Amino acid sequence: MPQKSLPFTKEQIEKIIKQYPTPFHLYDEKAIRENARAFKNAFNWNEGFKEFYAIKAAPNPYLMKILHQEGFGADCSSLAELIMAQKTGVTDEEIMFSSNDTPVEDFLLAKKLKAIINLDDISHIAYLEKCAGLPSLICFRYNPGKLKKGNHIIGHPEEAKYGFTREQLFEGYKICKEKGVKRFGIHTMVASNELDAYYFEETAEILFQLVAEISQKLKIKFDFVNIGGGVGIPYRPEQKRIDLKAMSRGIKKQYEKIIVANGLAPLKLFTECGRYITGPYGYLVSRVLHIKDTYKKFAGLDSCMANLMRPALYGAYHHITVMGKEKKPHTFVYDVTGSLCENNDKFAIDRKLPKLEQGDIIVIHDTGAHGFAMGFNYNGKLRSAELLLRENGKVVQIRRAETVKDYLATLNFNGLTSFKV
Ligand SMILES: *Cc1c(COP(=O)(O)O)cnc(C)c1O
Repeated sequence: MPQKSLPFTKEQIEKIIKQYPTPFHLYDEKAIRENARAFKNAFNWNEGFKEFYAIKAAPNPYLMKILHQEGFGADCSSLAELIMAQKTGVTDEEIMFSSNDTPVEDFLLAKKLKAIINLDDISHIAYLEKCAGLPSLICFRYNPGKLKKGNHIIGHPEEAKYGFTREQLFEGYKICKEKGVKRFGIHTMVASNELDAYYFEETAEILFQLVAEISQKLKIKFDFVNIGGGVGIPYRPEQKRIDLKAMSRGIKKQYEKIIVANGLAPLKLFTECGRYITGPYGYLVSRVLHIKDTYKKFAGLDSCMANLMRPALYGAYHHITVMGKEKKPHTFVYDVTGSLCENNDKFAIDRKLPKLEQGDIIVIHDTGAHGFAMGFNYNGKLRSAELLLRENGKVVQIRRAETVKDYLATLNFNGLTSFKV
């Protein structure tokens, strides 16, 4: 039975739980920094390379700050995310604003922060011009339609609501050029949790080719190509990590073949990954609350899909370690559940685990992206705390747990007294 490693021992986590009760998400700062450096290094052949961390994956200012210190920008897609970037000290062209169906206020703030605005639709050019004025740098999101295969999470590009068609790109850049926009970028995002390095080479090739055709036809100069996020991580212990070097090599090959050969260098390469950057370095730490034996064996935890929705939403696999029982035979089969009144509130179905008992500490792996972030309050469930495991072994609470008071805060109980038939 292949296992996944942890950045803490049972003794350490027990000590942490004494101070911060379960459940909580714990992030490993050292591993996040090391991974960020390796990611940046992999693309050092491209002078302007920059990763814009997709903050929707783990919207916490401490994580954003760590990544900013490592040279990353922020990919935002809503007003709140823009404000978080601003408050963390990430502004100007270190923000990529990749939104869709965008309201006025969001565009206004993005423009004010001098973020790179990445438009999702050709109609947004006039909308942006009217509400905030056009910036001097603009980017468009391309949807390759049938040209590119999608995958399970993101679906087929031609069915997706995102992006411009090919014809609209030519039209859009022409309009912006005529309106005085000086610098241009192009973006696409068609993958999610993709582990095949070649997929990203192919994406880059499509974008580089477009840059060559559009620059030639419209006589405009591109500043950057943003190949989006979607780089996958091995959720299952037997899966392999994506070959980052091969991914980089493949993109470089296309860069030389298309960009350099057409005299279009230098052109900056941007990415906006979330999952790859923090996903493997977050852990949901929980305890077994009840063991139930009916038609199946159930291990009910003190957390639920409000803390981690991916298994319920996509049937996604998240590896589970039972602290102190790693070496015990995994010969018992459990559904590992939460307490939500939804039968799909299960972290794992028919999972082989060691024999579980009430109070066992359960660690659910790879919750550092699209984990806490997807949390919600359905059924009166509260979102947990987030903790940061520092490089010196100390722990900082980077978000407190919600309380019932938070949950009730938006309700108008006072009005009830005078609410008569
Ligand atoms: C979600 C998202 C990302 C990040 O996706 P990952 O799979 O976490 O890498 C990047 N860009 C956009 C526009 C997104 O919506």
